[in-house]
Amino acid sequence: MGRGRADSGQAVGRPWLLYLTAGAALVIGSRLTPVRDTGRMALYCLIGVSSVAAFFVGVARSGPAPRLPWLLLGAGQVAYVTAVMAHCLFYDVLGATAFRTVSDAFFLLRYPFAVTGLVLFVRYRAPGRDLPGLLDAGTLAIAVIMLEWVYLVGPYVRGGPGRLGDAVLLLGHPALDLVLFAIGLRLLLGSGRQSSAFFLLMGNLVAVMTADTLYGLQRLNGSYQPGNILDVLWLAGALALGAAALHPAMARIADPAPAGDVGLGRCRLAVLFGAALAAPATMLTQYARGITYDIPVTAVAWTLMFLLTIARMTVLLSDQRRLAITDGLTGLYTRRFLEAELPIELARVRRTGGLLALFIIDVDHFKAINDHYGHPAGDRVLAEISVRLRGTTRPGDVLARYGGEEFALLAPNVHLDELSTVAERMRTRVAASPITVNADTSLSATVSVGACAFPAHVSDQAELVGMADRALYKAKALGRDRTVVWDGATSATAPSEDRPGDTPDTRDTREARSTHDIRTTTA
Ligand code: GH3
Ligand code: MG
Ligand code: MG
Repeated sequence: MGRGRADSGQAVGRPWLLYLTAGAALVIGSRLTPVRDTGRMALYCLIGVSSVAAFFVGVARSGPAPRLPWLLLGAGQVAYVTAVMAHCLFYDVLGATAFRTVSDAFFLLRYPFAVTGLVLFVRYRAPGRDLPGLLDAGTLAIAVIMLEWVYLVGPYVRGGPGRLGDAVLLLGHPALDLVLFAIGLRLLLGSGRQSSAFFLLMGNLVAVMTADTLYGLQRLNGSYQPGNILDVLWLAGALALGAAALHPAMARIADPAPAGDVGLGRCRLAVLFGAALAAPATMLTQYARGITYDIPVTAVAWTLMFLLTIARMTVLLSDQRRLAITDGLTGLYTRRFLEAELPIELARVRRTGGLLALFIIDVDHFKAINDHYGHPAGDRVLAEISVRLRGTTRPGDVLARYGGEEFALLAPNVHLDELSTVAERMRTRVAASPITVNADTSLSATVSVGACAFPAHVSDQAELVGMADRALYKAKALGRDRTVVWDGATSATAPSEDRPGDTPDTRDTREARSTHDIRTTTA
C-alpha cells in the first residue's frame, strides 16, 4: 500500500492547492506586467520545470500503485517541457525560423509515453472492458479529424503547392493530442472513481490540446504571436499536471471500478450523438455554400462512424447479455441461465446419449457467518467460495449461483462413477484453507453437496432438480460438510430398504451403488 494512502487523511496541508495557486498567481502576474522574451522564457522554464518537480515529488510522496502509468506520464512531461523550452530558445528567442527544430522531436516524444500511461489507467480502472471506450473514442476522433480537414487543413492545403507538409507538421500535435484527448474522454466517460486528482489530470489534457489546436490554427492563418493568450493555456496545463500528482487522491486513480459498471450514460450518448451528426451537418453546410470537394471526406467519415456505431451497438448488446446472465457478486452464471440451459442439455443427452449431472452446493451454517462477521464478510466468503468452485469445473460445465448461498453445477458427459469424485472435489476445495475476509479475519467455511444424474437416476428435468435437492437435504441431515449422490431407486433417507417389486438382482445392484453412490464423506 502506498504511503500516501496511509497519511492522505491527515492534515499535512494541501501542497497541490499551494502549487496551483502560486503558479496561477505567477502566470496572471506575468500577463498583467508586460514582460520581454527573456522574461517569458524564464516563466516557461520555471513553470515547466516546477511541473516536472511537483510531479515526481507527488509520485514519491503518494507512492501510487501501480506506479508505471505515473512514471510514463512523468517521462512524457519531461519530454514536453524540454520541447517547450527548446521551442522558446530556437524559435521565439533566437528567431530561428526553420520550422523543424529539435523541439519537434521532443514534442513528439511526449506522445508514446503519455498515450501508454493513459491507456494503462484505462485498463487498470476497467480491466478487460475497454472496447466500448475504444469505439467511442474512435467515433469522436473521426468526427474531429473530419472537421479539422474540412475547416482547417483542406482550405490551407488547397491554397498553394507544398503546403501539405507544413499542415501535417503544424497539425500533427493537435491530431496526436486528439488521441490523448480521446483516451482522456474514455477515462472521463468510463467507470471508476472521479477524484479531484482525476479532474486535474483531465484538465491538463484539455488545456494542452486546446492550446496546440489553436496554435496550429493561428500558425496556418498567420495570426500567431509569441507570448499571446495560448501561453496561459500551456502553462495552466503544466500546473494542472503538477497539482494532480501532488494531490493525495492520485494514489487511487488506477483503482478498478466495480464489476458491471459499464454502460451508455447520458453524457456519453450526447457526445456520440454530436459526433455522429457532425458528418451530415458538415455535408449540408458545405452543400449550402456550394462547396463539393469535401464530399468524399465527409462521406468516408460518415461511413466509418456508422460502422463504429454498429460495432458499438453489438458490443453493448453482448455486454447487456453478459450482465443478464452473470451474478453480480460472484461473477458466476445466474440461476435463470442455468434453468435455460437445463432443457437444452437434457435434449442433447436424450439425442446423443451420455449423462447429465446436476450438483447443488449449499454453504453450511452461512447465517452464522453473517451473524458473526457481518453481511459484507459473508459476501466476501461467497465470492471466494465461487472462485474455489470455479477452479474445479471443466470446459462445458455451467456453474451458477443458484440462490443466496447456494450454487449449482450442471456437468455434461460425467460418468456415473465420477459423480462422487466431482462432488468431493468441490467440497474439499472449499474447505481446503481459511477464507480471508479482511486484514485480520480469516474463517473456515464448508459446503454440503447433493448430486443427481439424468437418465441414470431420474427421467425428467423436475426430477433432476428435485432429487439433487433431496440429496443435498440428506447431506445436511447427516451433519453437513459432506456429499451425497442420489441413488435413483432409493429414498435418500432410507438408502437400502426393500421395495415392493424388487427382485434380488435389482436390490443387489442398488445396494452395491448405495455403498458407492450414497456415500457420505466428512472432512
Ligand atoms: P445450513 O447449513 O442449513 O445451510 O444453514 P445456513 O445458515 O447456511 O442456512 P440458512 O438458509 O438458514 O441461511 C442462509 C443465509 O444466507 C440467510 C441469508 O441471510 C444469507 N444470505 C443469502 N444471500 C446472501 C448474500 O448475498 N450475502 C450474504 N452475506 N448473505 C446472504
Ligand atoms: Mg446454507
Ligand atoms: Mg441455503
